[in-house]
Amino acid sequence: MKVYNFSAGPSTLNDAVKLQAQKDFVDYEGCGMSVTEMSHRSKVFDKIHNEAIALLRELMHIGDEYEVLFVQGGASTQFDAIPLNLMTTGKADYIVTGNFANKAAQAGARYGTANVVASSKADKYTYIPDMTKVVTNDDADYVHMTYNNTIFGTKFTTLPKHKAPLIADLSSNILSEEIDVNQFDMIYAGAQKNIGPAGLTIIIIKKELIGKALEICPIMLNYKTQADANSLYNTPPCFAIYMAMLTFRWLKDMGGVKAIQKINEDKAKMLYDYIDNSGFYKNNVAVNDRSLMNVPFVTASAELDAKFVKEAELAGLVSLKGHKLVGGMRASIYNAMPVEGVQALISFMKKFAEENK
Ligand SMILES: *Cc1c(COP(=O)(O)O)cnc(C)c1O
Repeated sequence: MKVYNFSAGPSTLNDAVKLQAQKDFVDYEGCGMSVTEMSHRSKVFDKIHNEAIALLRELMHIGDEYEVLFVQGGASTQFDAIPLNLMTTGKADYIVTGNFANKAAQAGARYGTANVVASSKADKYTYIPDMTKVVTNDDADYVHMTYNNTIFGTKFTTLPKHKAPLIADLSSNILSEEIDVNQFDMIYAGAQKNIGPAGLTIIIIKKELIGKALEICPIMLNYKTQADANSLYNTPPCFAIYMAMLTFRWLKDMGGVKAIQKINEDKAKMLYDYIDNSGFYKNNVAVNDRSLMNVPFVTASAELDAKFVKEAELAGLVSLKGHKLVGGMRASIYNAMPVEGVQALISFMKKFAEENK
C-alpha cells in the first residue's frame, strides 16, 4: 500500500533512493555481495565512504578547516561527547529551546557548569528566545543550541552573539535549507531524519577544536580518534553510510540544498497557510519561529485529535500523532516528503474538518 509517512524519525526516504538500494542489495556493483556483508576495509566500501563525505562537503560547502566525521550512537551520544571533548575549563552555555536541547544541557551539567543562558521552557517551548537579547559568556568553552526543535516545531532565525565556539544540533534540519557552515564551530546530526537510516551520526567540526578532550573521555567518543582514522577507527555503520551516499547523490541531482530549500518552503507555506485559514486547526508556535520541517497542529479537542490520527492512517497518511509532550498532531515534512504528500494531507484535513465541524 502506498502511504505518505509523516514520521519525525526514522522518517520517509526518497523512492528513487530506496529502489537503488533494493537493486544493489544482493549484488553491489557486481561484487557478489551486499554492502552489509563486505569488509569496511575493502576498496569497494572505501569508495562509498569517501564519496559520501565528499558529497556532504560539496552539498554544504564545507571548507578544509572543518573535519567531517561519521560516528555512531545517535545525536544523543553527542550530548555527552561534546562536553567530554570540549569542556576544557569546565563551563559551557546552553540555549534551551526544546526537549533535546534540555537533555544536552543536563548531560553538560554532569561534567561541569552548564549555564542556561536562554530558555523557553516556561512557555512549553512554543517560541525561540530573542537572540539579540541573549548574553553568552565570552569565557564559556562553547555555546550549544538546537537549530530546529523537532518535537515543538520551532527553529532559530537569528544566531546568538557569541565569542565562544558555537555548536548546533541540526538533526532535524540538516540539508533542508542553505546554512552557512562558517557560522558554526561544530554541527552534528543524526541521519535518520533528513538523510537515511538510523545508526549514522554526522559531525562537522573545526579542526582546531579536535585534540582537546578531557582525560576521562572514552576513546570511541574522542573526536581525535575518529579524525585520525577518517572515521574508520572501528566498524562504521556501513549500510547507513551507503544509504546516506545515495541520498546525497539524489540531492545533488535535484539541484542541491538551494533547490530543496525552495521546495521545503513551498510545502511548509502550503500547510501553515491552510492551518491558519482553516478555522478548525491551530499551530501554537510563534509565527516567526515556525519550523520548515516539523509542523505540530491541534483541533479543538484531544478526542478529535485522536479521531484525526486514526482516520488519517486509514487514508494512507501515517505517523501523524504528535509527540507525547505536545499532543495533537505533527506532520514532519523532511526533504524526502514530496509536495504531493503535503497536498494529500491538506485534502484530508479539509475533508475531516468538513465532517467534524
Ligand atoms: C531526533 C533528535 C535527537 C535525538 O537523536 P538520536 O539519534 O535518537 O539520539 C537529538 N536532537 C534533535 C534535534 C533531534 O531531532
